[in-house]
Amino acid sequence: MKKVGICRICGKYAKLTFEHVPPQSAFNSNPVFFQKSVHLHDKKSFLYGKKIRSNQGAGGYYLCKSCNNLTGSYYGDSYKKFAYMGMMALTHRILASKDITFEYALQPLNILKQILAMFMAIDTSDQLLNLEGLADFILDKDSRALPDSLRVFVYHTITKQVRNGWGMARTEKGFHHLGEITFPPFGVVYALDSEPTRNDFYEITDFKNFNFNQTVQARLSIPFLTPKTYIPGLYN
Ligand SMILES: [Zn+2]
Repeated sequence: MKKVGICRICGKYAKLTFEHVPPQSAFNSNPVFFQKSVHLHDKKSFLYGKKIRSNQGAGGYYLCKSCNNLTGSYYGDSYKKFAYMGMMALTHRILASKDITFEYALQPLNILKQILAMFMAIDTSDQLLNLEGLADFILDKDSRALPDSLRVFVYHTITKQVRNGWGMARTEKGFHHLGEITFPPFGVVYALDSEPTRNDFYEITDFKNFNFNQTVQARLSIPFLTPKTYIPGLYN
């Protein structure tokens, strides 16, 4: 794997460091298997049907050291706590109900920025790198200027397969530009310049209206969904 390249947040050509997506402390320290599109779609490729093993957990060489350290130190811990509370909510869930309601103490702005840093890290399409203002929103911890074209959502899942991707989907609502990262206890989704593929995701775009490190007590009702394939946007 090449270790020098374009950092997917700041866009500078630099030495790249291993970035865990999600953060290592958020249940991502064990070896994982994942598949990329070549493993799924290209039947002629010798990679078809195979999986990649990552011994370090899910992630890759996506970010320069500065962006990796900045996002990790500003937002990593807030996301870790969110993931731990989410895991507790999952463990205590009532199986009959689709929405899992739990009382969270959370740092909304930090969590939103961590999630967006994860999306930027895995975005090989450059659609987020080229989205004006997004990198500044992440790199300036106090900024609340999330680009208007971007909305962010979350759902609960226990599906262990890692769905890390971006793409386009078409539903009865029209075309969707989306990205998705699935890693228990959460799946996170963004919709760019379009509606989300479902109406029942829990939207966290408004997390931008809080201050850095501001902690709030909030009761969230997050739906439980099971991704169907590795292709973003489809569920059972
Ligand atoms: Zn960078």
